Amino acid sequence: MFEKEVFAEPYKIKMVEKIRKITKAEREKLVREAGYNVFNLKSRDVYIDLLTDSGTGAMSDEQWSEMLKGDEAYAGSVSFEKLQKAIDDIMGFKYVLPTHQGRGAENVLFSVMVKKDDVIIGNMHFDTTKAHIEVRGAHAINCVTKEAFDTNSDYPFKGNIDTEKLEELIKEYGPERIPLVMITVTCNSGGGQPVSMENIKKTAAILKKYNIPMFFDAARFAENAYFIRTREDAYKNVPIIQIVREMFSYANGATMSCKKDAIVNIGGFVALNSPDLYQQCTQFCVIYEGFVTYGGLSGRDLAAIAQGLYDGIDYEYLKSRIYQTEYLGKKLREAGVPIIWPIGGHAVYVNAREFLPQIPKEEFTAQALVVQLYIEGGVRSVEIGTVLADRDPITGENRYPELDLVRLAIPRRTYTLSHMDVVVDAFEKVKKVKDKIRGLRFTYEPKVLRHFTARFEFVS
Ligand SMILES: *Cc1c(COP(=O)(O)O)cnc(C)c1O
Repeated sequence: MFEKEVFAEPYKIKMVEKIRKITKAEREKLVREAGYNVFNLKSRDVYIDLLTDSGTGAMSDEQWSEMLKGDEAYAGSVSFEKLQKAIDDIMGFKYVLPTHQGRGAENVLFSVMVKKDDVIIGNMHFDTTKAHIEVRGAHAINCVTKEAFDTNSDYPFKGNIDTEKLEELIKEYGPERIPLVMITVTCNSGGGQPVSMENIKKTAAILKKYNIPMFFDAARFAENAYFIRTREDAYKNVPIIQIVREMFSYANGATMSCKKDAIVNIGGFVALNSPDLYQQCTQFCVIYEGFVTYGGLSGRDLAAIAQGLYDGIDYEYLKSRIYQTEYLGKKLREAGVPIIWPIGGHAVYVNAREFLPQIPKEEFTAQALVVQLYIEGGVRSVEIGTVLADRDPITGENRYPELDLVRLAIPRRTYTLSHMDVVVDAFEKVKKVKDKIRGLRFTYEPKVLRHFTARFEFVS
């Protein structure tokens, strides 16, 4: 039994949003009308929404007060200065370009740095990062440690770069074809698994030898720092801000989706230490995002991000955040639900093929589990499996990833531990009908990014 430590969220609630639980019969009807795709559900019909942790967090009173104080100037706002100052203080980067989201930051940076036939190595590229690389005719290569593929081992840093393979890849392609290496912290596509400081340092040393710049995809940098503090001996009890500063000291820059660890509902940025690179990026920021001191955001958004970066590195907050994710994961594991181990930062991943072995992968095992979880408990999760993997563009065949997963992503500061108990209860209910759950087939399949708008029906 996973005992609740005598420990609670380091905040009290001063504004609430009502959520409602509709009946199972209503949910059955609604999910059928949604074509058994939870992206087609209305959020008001969802009881606990674990679709994503992106832009779904709750801002603090201090962030809201920054919103009110945020000044709205096209150029040179005080809010922008605050953002610049926060990024310099926390990450040590002097040059900042705000963007509407993380993908906007990728677009601005890669417009300067990435060209056709280039090779961009990373631990595991996030989908939008990979897309921004491939759309330029360049190649996105994952180089994560092999430990990442053993979903049961206790290995603490499954987001690590495989440094031996990295050096082999550099020799194979030649450093001139590699404009940068991108480390995603934590590694979202690998289940929110962290990268150790030792690995960051080692990677930086290798790249220095070949004169290749290192960048962070920093969406969950604060969670990564928390894992370094709790799992890497040399950093035990070291203040989070100090860990963060050290992490970024090895990098030439970062792109960030502020919808994650900056705990805002929209925003992103590119942060750099090179004035030349900054200069080159500015023109693309102006074309795609907006003038260099607002980048598609309002002044109040910039001010909320600045405060959110500080909120996000608060040790007590991070402790409760990771505790909550772990609480859900351990309770599910106790209930006999197979999950990816160790539990990552922002989400718990359920191994659907192991849980529902009777549903063949051709019938979208994880999607079937997502649907049943909504029917039983009003919990919205998301499929990270065959539907998401799409078809091979050349053969037109379905691609079957190694694992069919259901992701339960936890919004920041939004739900309590009681809500996590509701999720566990929903799984208990699914377990009772588990052998009767049927697979799915498409009734509508869009050509690209099919998971967002596809429609399904039950097989037989
Ligand atoms: C969310 C995310 C992005 C993209 O950011 P958006 O704000 O959604 O555009 C990039 N990388 C990682 C690791 C992410 O989690």
